[in-house]
Amino acid sequence: MSDTSAPTNFIRQFIDEDIESGKHTEIITRFPPEPNGYLHIGHAKSIWLNFGVARDYKGLCTLRFDDTNPVKEDIEFVEAIEKDVSWLGYQWSQVAHASDYFDQLYDFAVELIGKNLAFVDSLPAEEIREYRGTLTEPGKNSPDRDRPVEESLDLFSRMRAGEFKDGELVLRAKIDMASSNINLRDPIIYRIRHHDHQRTGNKWCIYPMYDFTHGLSDAIERVTHSLCTLEFEDHRPLYDWFIENITTPSVPRQIEFSRLNLNYTVMSKRLLTQLVDNQLVNGWDDPRMPTISGLRRRGYTPASINNFIAQVGITKKANVIDMLVLENAVREDLDPIAPRAMAVLNPLKVVIENYPEGKTELIEVSNHPKDESLGKRTISLSRELYIDQDDFMEEPPAKYFRLSPGKRVRLRNAFVIQCHSVEKDADGNPVCLHCEYLPDTRNGKKPAEGKVKGIIHWVNADDAIDAEVRLYDRLFKVENPLEDKSANFIDFLNDTSLVVLKDCKLEASLADTTSDQRFQFERVGYFHPDLDSTSQTPVFNRVVTLRDSWANLIK
Ligand code: ATP
Ligand code: MG
Repeated sequence: MSDTSAPTNFIRQFIDEDIESGKHTEIITRFPPEPNGYLHIGHAKSIWLNFGVARDYKGLCTLRFDDTNPVKEDIEFVEAIEKDVSWLGYQWSQVAHASDYFDQLYDFAVELIGKNLAFVDSLPAEEIREYRGTLTEPGKNSPDRDRPVEESLDLFSRMRAGEFKDGELVLRAKIDMASSNINLRDPIIYRIRHHDHQRTGNKWCIYPMYDFTHGLSDAIERVTHSLCTLEFEDHRPLYDWFIENITTPSVPRQIEFSRLNLNYTVMSKRLLTQLVDNQLVNGWDDPRMPTISGLRRRGYTPASINNFIAQVGITKKANVIDMLVLENAVREDLDPIAPRAMAVLNPLKVVIENYPEGKTELIEVSNHPKDESLGKRTISLSRELYIDQDDFMEEPPAKYFRLSPGKRVRLRNAFVIQCHSVEKDADGNPVCLHCEYLPDTRNGKKPAEGKVKGIIHWVNADDAIDAEVRLYDRLFKVENPLEDKSANFIDFLNDTSLVVLKDCKLEASLADTTSDQRFQFERVGYFHPDLDSTSQTPVFNRVVTLRDSWANLIK
């Protein structure tokens, strides 16, 4: 498992207190996604916290699918969520589903009715909303609030039996319509939905609401610390009310922390679903998506994501983290472990006129400048090479240290060349550089006339591999695509977030790379084979650039 050695945080302090006071001997947490989409990097924060706490306290963490909404959920999402959690390096003690508890939850609801703490309400939905009041005005009691217990019990069992239509009746908790906390104004706890459920089939036509289900599922699983995001802070009194008023197997404690927000993206399954459904991205695992599957496909490592979350930390302060922090995390993870290689993304042919035709020399080079344990490889060199178009300028500005007519540059791992003429196409674009090499400049030896400042990468034209390379940029062109409430966030998509280069040339050693390998292509960034990659047509994703170029660009 990757290094996620957790710095302490306020939640761990609460847990420490609960252990010291003897309140708990075993810590149990849960990660409770709704299977209505793929996980995003925000979920990684909750995963890191819940599974990390369980691991470090030698406790348990359940992966619990919160599947109380039969309409939106799908088995595809369940499988994707399991895959993502495992890939991040975590093991659940069990997989559970809120739907596993439907029978128990039904009995809990009956217990509440029996205690005259819940009633069946026939008020139509709009009126329930009107009666609820506002933040400044108290609500009004429903006319059905005083329905006799026996009658509510009877109606509730008939709701279950399917005697009523969707929306005709609901079951509500009887708490306080004048409470300053709207969540306590007789919240709905069961509604009728004649819809098959992916796990329980047609067994149920009434489904429990989130607030009721969540805390009681925690109690059934004997969760000790129910860690959730800040928007549930106002729901905590309701969470506690259900636990206090129902005979539950345990008393869990809810603790809230702030959500992870990142700039230049959106982080909600509801919004990400729109991008996928409208084909504005290439699926949930599009490498530009902030999803775990997108980051994985792009080439992020589990360690980079876990380290990023550890760096952001767990607090109650709501804030927005700069995408640069995430990118730095993957750079820091890959720099010491990624073997180096040479790849030319926009090839420009170079012919070394004084290099013998038909000759090939082999050069042994280190895979990593600082880590010999990554070994060596052999690269080849002959008369025709490719360099990147960006490394040549016909009329260079001052202090341009790459190649231009009459000027010299060092070929990385080889020798110095000098350009003496440029061949161009009909449009005046360079297509081939005619150069000479300086034979005495191998192994970094400087030419008699003085040191050459520029060093560029290259590949041998004879055995270079043709490949496609995909470069990614921010998914949105503004920091907060949701800021402008009058606009649709989709209008802020960055239409140059994907650049596909189809004629790239890679050094021969990059043939047959496997899907879990990552490389630093010298001077261009970190790369990872895409899922579309085949041995006939290799496809590489740029995970991240070598340095952060974005900050400079937007100034
Ligand atoms: P979404 O709006 O993306 O659907 P959600 O909160 O509804 O998010 P759930 O599937 O219910 O998603 O989330 C499972 C758990 O992950 C919850 O405990 C939730 O609080 C947590 N979570 C979701 N988004 C974030 C985030 N951005 N940062 C931290 N935790 C998050
Ligand atoms: Mg949700």
